[in-house]
Amino acid sequence: MQKTGNLVINLKALSANYRLFQDKVGDSCAVAGVVKADAYGLGLKTIVKALTALDCPQYFVATLDEAIQLRDVNAKAPVAVLGGLFHRAENDYLHHNITPILNSPDDITRWQDLAGQKSQMLPAFLHIDTGMNRLGLSADETSALLQGKTKFEGIEIKTIMTHFACADDKNHPLTKKQAHDFANIAQHFEQSQKSLANSPGLFRSDAHHHDMVRPGYALYGGNPTPETSNPMQAVVTLETRILQTRHCKEGESIGYGASHIFDQDSVTATIGMGYADGFQRRADKQKYVYYKGQSCPIIGRVSMDLVTIDLTHLTQKPQAGDMIEILGPHQTIDDLADTVGTIGYEILTSLGRRYTRTYI
Ligand SMILES: *Cc1c(COP(=O)(O)O)cnc(C)c1O
Repeated sequence: MQKTGNLVINLKALSANYRLFQDKVGDSCAVAGVVKADAYGLGLKTIVKALTALDCPQYFVATLDEAIQLRDVNAKAPVAVLGGLFHRAENDYLHHNITPILNSPDDITRWQDLAGQKSQMLPAFLHIDTGMNRLGLSADETSALLQGKTKFEGIEIKTIMTHFACADDKNHPLTKKQAHDFANIAQHFEQSQKSLANSPGLFRSDAHHHDMVRPGYALYGGNPTPETSNPMQAVVTLETRILQTRHCKEGESIGYGASHIFDQDSVTATIGMGYADGFQRRADKQKYVYYKGQSCPIIGRVSMDLVTIDLTHLTQKPQAGDMIEILGPHQTIDDLADTVGTIGYEILTSLGRRYTRTYI
């Protein structure tokens, strides 16, 4: 083993999660795969292959480049680009059979122009903003569209969609408002599929399902309903190796900045992982890792390639070469995120490139 960490990505758990969504939404609703950002850090191509085996009918990516990479492993499946119709790349969407999600009147105009040039109908998704204020047609732009003031020649709107801002918060009033506004707007698009829910959204209400749901995070094992236990199976485990153990004396310090001073003689281990592997240096609270189910606090600063942990309290101490659990049965992506003051999405998408990656 030439690397220090083992990142294991469980495709069986991913498949079970996908099936759980399908069971939840029923046969009349499609379950799309959101695979942006390298499938949330887990590897776009392998994840898409696994989802293709499950007949996943639709993929979402953030950029045109991601969509083109996806084409290497799936030449045909519908792929939509959340970032919209990128300027000066309009022809590439057509060339690779990739669907833009039209986010603005400008996107609409340019896609329409291309349809005119090619004398053919071009497919598109249409994104209506209902409260996120990031991407999508504003309320005014949407009403102009509904009043027929926006030209839409040559474009076939396959799917109309919006995106929840607060669905992870069980009782946030904006979720209800967005769902209500979306349903009102969507009824004007009889020919189009309707899509509303991300991972948390699809668990909040059956009324959010419409024709297609768009889970990302929960597919990869994250908890879509933070207020209760996680209905999903964990997809990611990460363990990393002890490079060295040592005895430190009371009064000595450890690591950069001498930020931790021992108040007793201690046994420590240095493990092969650091902020360059996505293990964040910042910490609101103390971070922990696990040896045989027992928690070991991280002491001192997280360095680029190394982290130091306290083993003093363990009766059976691990040795150099033994593996330490970072993510696994005792610490989920959501747990680790909590301790560093972030969300599991960021834990996943910052998983480093230096681990041995195994797909099981
Ligand atoms: C990222 C994204 C999703 C998936 O969200 P999760 O919370 O990861 O399930 C769905 N829809 C849109 C528009 C997105 O940007």
